[in-house]
Amino acid sequence: MLKLDSVKVSYGAIEAVKGVSLEVRKGEVVTIIGANGAGKSTLLKSIVGLEPVKAGKVFIDGKDCTHVPSHKRVGLGVAMSPEGRGVFADQTVRENLMLGAYSRKNDPRATEEAIEREFKRFPRLRERQNQLSGTLSGGEQQMLAIARALMSEPRLLLLDEPSLGLAPLIIKDIFEAIRQLRHSGLTILLVEQMAKQALGVADRAYVLETGLITLEGSGKELLDDPKVKAAYLGAH
Ligand code: ATP
Repeated sequence: MLKLDSVKVSYGAIEAVKGVSLEVRKGEVVTIIGANGAGKSTLLKSIVGLEPVKAGKVFIDGKDCTHVPSHKRVGLGVAMSPEGRGVFADQTVRENLMLGAYSRKNDPRATEEAIEREFKRFPRLRERQNQLSGTLSGGEQQMLAIARALMSEPRLLLLDEPSLGLAPLIIKDIFEAIRQLRHSGLTILLVEQMAKQALGVADRAYVLETGLITLEGSGKELLDDPKVKAAYLGAH
């Protein structure tokens, strides 16, 4: 479903992604773990077209999308829930969800159906549908960010650090939501610093260090890998 071939992304003279190749197959949950500044967010942005690729190629469903503009990639079935959630604080929950359906703004009935689907998935959002998003708790905002990405009915969902800044109990809920999405057949690429939880939910995983993939394997293999244990799993 997704293939990156030697992708490089730079900010001026700084090369944040230095030639990354990876793939995500249909129905898989794949995770990229890495420390702060490893280039995880930059990599996701290059997949949705928010950062230009300097070299290498991005294929979606086998089609070279390296230079397809961001708004057209939504039509190809890719959506991202960004780091820091990116919800519009002064808009209500419902309005944020409607923005996620922008690509089919001419079909209000389909938009309503999609909102209903997300309210079923995240009942808390239904309760809070008229509340300004900036007043939601961190966990609720994260649910909203994921639901908003799902409004376009993507086949590939990119999640950028959904656990960031959340309390352990809420992180559990978020990972449970990811498990359910996976169960529904959605293909997911998950970027995380919470390596233990991310590897636990992932079919396959990559370790990204200063812009390069240094390890790959199944989620379980990486959970058991001594280098991953030492660098990302603390003393466990
Ligand atoms: P974190 O987990 O802290 O979000 P990350 O792995 O997602 O980190 P990126 O945000 O992709 O890392 O950043 C990779 C590198 O690119 C870092 O050195 C960062 O300072 C740099 N960088 C990111 N965004 C920009 C930008 N807009 N302009 C200049 N440099 C940037």
